[in-house]
Amino acid sequence: MSALNKKNVEDLQVKGKRVLVRCDFNVPLKDGKITNDNRITAALPTIKKLIENGGKVILCSHLGKPKNGPEDKFSLAPVAERLSELLGKEVVFAKDNEVVGANAKAAVEKMNDGDVVLLENTRFRAEETKNIDDFSKDLASIADVYVNDAFGSAHRAHCSTAGVTKFIKGETAVGYLMNKEIEYLGNAVENPVRPFVAILGGAKVADKLNVISNLLEKCDTLIIGGGMAYTFLKAKGYEVGTSLVDMEKVDYCKQMLEKAEKLGKKLVLPVDTTIAKSFPDPIDAPIEVSVVDSNAIPADMMGLDIGTKTQELFADTVKSAKTVVWNGPMGVFENPILAKGTIAVAKALAETDATTIIGGGDSAAAVVQLGFADKMSHISTGGGASLEYLEGKVLPGIDVIQDK
Ligand code: ATP
Repeated sequence: MSALNKKNVEDLQVKGKRVLVRCDFNVPLKDGKITNDNRITAALPTIKKLIENGGKVILCSHLGKPKNGPEDKFSLAPVAERLSELLGKEVVFAKDNEVVGANAKAAVEKMNDGDVVLLENTRFRAEETKNIDDFSKDLASIADVYVNDAFGSAHRAHCSTAGVTKFIKGETAVGYLMNKEIEYLGNAVENPVRPFVAILGGAKVADKLNVISNLLEKCDTLIIGGGMAYTFLKAKGYEVGTSLVDMEKVDYCKQMLEKAEKLGKKLVLPVDTTIAKSFPDPIDAPIEVSVVDSNAIPADMMGLDIGTKTQELFADTVKSAKTVVWNGPMGVFENPILAKGTIAVAKALAETDATTIIGGGDSAAAVVQLGFADKMSHISTGGGASLEYLEGKVLPGIDVIQDK
C-alpha cells in the first residue's frame, strides 16, 4: 500500500492559504463539559505547525452521532473553547447549522494568516456520512489545501474525510497524528522487523475474521487469547463448556489452523484457562474462579481469561519478538479477577525492546488503565480504523491523499 508515501504537513506550502483540517474532536462530553481532552491535545502539533507556517487554519470534525440534523448537545462549541485555551490564542467558532453556511463563510472571509476557525459538527449535515458531493463541494469552497489528521475516521468515506478531496484544487496531506499511525501500523503490517508477533483477543472471532487471516500471512507468530480463543479450541476438538463460541465460525477457525500450518507460521492458543460458573454480573462483581487445562474445561463452566501457564507462554513468545501488534484483551479485563491475563500480556509488552503497537479500543484502554501506556511504542487512536488497517484494507481517508 502506498500509504507510507503520502504527503504530510511538512510537505505543504500553506502561507496565505486556507487550510481545511479534518480533526478527530469526537471528545466525551458530560453536561456540556469535556471530560477528556486527549483528542484535542493530540491534534495540536498539526494545528500549531500550520499556524506557524502562516496558513489560515479551518478545522472541522464530527462529534457524536446526531440523528436528525443539528442538535445543541452535539455542538463543537466546547471544543473551540478548550482548543483556544490550549493554543493560547483565539479560535473563532463558526456556529452554523449548515456547517458551511453564511456564518462560516463570513468567518473564513475575515481570516488573517495564522488565524484559526472551527466549523460546526460535520454530522449536522446529513450528506456527511453518505459522502454526497453537495457537502463536499461546500467544504472545498472555503479551502485551498486539505489536511486529514483524523485517523479514527479514516476508515469511513465521508464528505469531510474523503469526498472533499475531489473538489479541493490545491494540495492534500496527512497530519502528524495520521502520519504516526501510518508509520507504525503500516510498517508493522507491510515491513515489520522480524520476528513479528501478533496478539489477538477480544470477544468474537466473527469481528476479526479478516484480521486473523491477514495477520497470519504477515506475522511469524499469531497468538490468540480472549473470548475468540474458545472457537479455535472448539475447532481443535476440545470441550469448551459454556464459553463464548461461535459455532458458525468453527470451520473458519479450522481453516486458519490449517493455513498456519501450510504457511509454516506458529498459531499459539491458550494451554490453560481461567473458568467460572457464569459470566460476572455486574461485570466487575467478585467471582469464584479456578484454572484448568484448555482441553479439560468442564461442560458447565465458562472460560473468562487465559490461565497462568498461558500467561507465561504468551510472555515467553513475546520475548524474542522485534515487532508486536496487539488488539483485544485476553479476558474479561473489566473484572479485576479476570484481568490477570491482559495485565500479563501488557507487562510482557512493556518489558520487551520490540516495537510494540496497540491497536484497538479495549486493549488501548486496558494498557492506559494499567499504567503501561508510556512503555509502548505506539497506541493507536482509532479502534475501527486500526483494525481495518490490520485487515490489510486501504483506508479511504488515507487513500485520497496525494502521494509525495
Ligand atoms: P475494539 O473493537 O473496541 O477495538 P477490542 O478489539 O479491543 O475492542 P472487543 O472485540 O470489543 O475488543 O472485545 C472486548 C471485550 O471482550 C471485553 O469487553 C471483554 O470483556 C470481552 N471478553 C474477553 N474475553 C472474554 C471471554 N473469555 N468471554 C467473554 N467475553 C470476553
